[in-house]
Amino acid sequence: MAETIIPKATAKRLPLYYRYLTFLANAGTTKVSSTELSEAVKVDSATIRRDFSYFGALGKRGYGYDVKDLITFFKKILNQDRLTNVALVGVGNLGHALLNYNFRQANNIRISAGFDLNPDIAGTIQSGVPIYPMADMVEQLKEQQIEIVILTVPTDAAQDITDGLVKAGIKGIMNFTPLRISVPSYVRVQNVDLATELQTLIYFLEHYGPTLKDA
Ligand code: ATP
Repeated sequence: MAETIIPKATAKRLPLYYRYLTFLANAGTTKVSSTELSEAVKVDSATIRRDFSYFGALGKRGYGYDVKDLITFFKKILNQDRLTNVALVGVGNLGHALLNYNFRQANNIRISAGFDLNPDIAGTIQSGVPIYPMADMVEQLKEQQIEIVILTVPTDAAQDITDGLVKAGIKGIMNFTPLRISVPSYVRVQNVDLATELQTLIYFLEHYGPTLKDA
């Protein structure tokens, strides 16, 4: 069967649906309507129905969606049925917090290697994850066939390290630095700039107040 290309906006909502459906399944719920789902994940039900229709889904009028079926389906799409190993570069405050975060419980993702310049950290195990010196980065990433990296280094080191990551064959970078790193077109970057996000929130609150529901 040809793979369905789903819109980016839909793809972004999938983990949200998946997480809530898992929650429902754990609570013993077997079916869910788009309206219930809508209230829980705060996406309007027409959007949910449209999103699900991209998968040829699956809902029955007056019955709703079968929770187990949806989970099995999303698991495949999200690759949740296999463990994804991710590396982290820069084991500072933020890096440590991410090492301690249990990605695996929610998403079958695991940080399996860390890298840092600091000789006090390199060569140790932090939160159960081996931390390697930067000199080993390219080799280790290749050897461990890691394709995704979380970048939590100081801004001025970000581009050099990114160049090394590209050399190592990395396909995706979750960039926590404020720098807009340059990568070739076959590498995907997801920017997460916490300080800017917070500043944006403060700005909006100061200028516009809270969002009116469904505005
Ligand atoms: P944060 O809270 O931003 O993670 P921090 O204040 O703990 O940071 P930073 O100076 O931002 O520390 O550095 C983050 C981590 O990146 C540190 O553990 C530091 O040793 C490491 N680091 C700094 N420069 C490099 C580099 N060129 N290559 C790899 N790691 C680096």
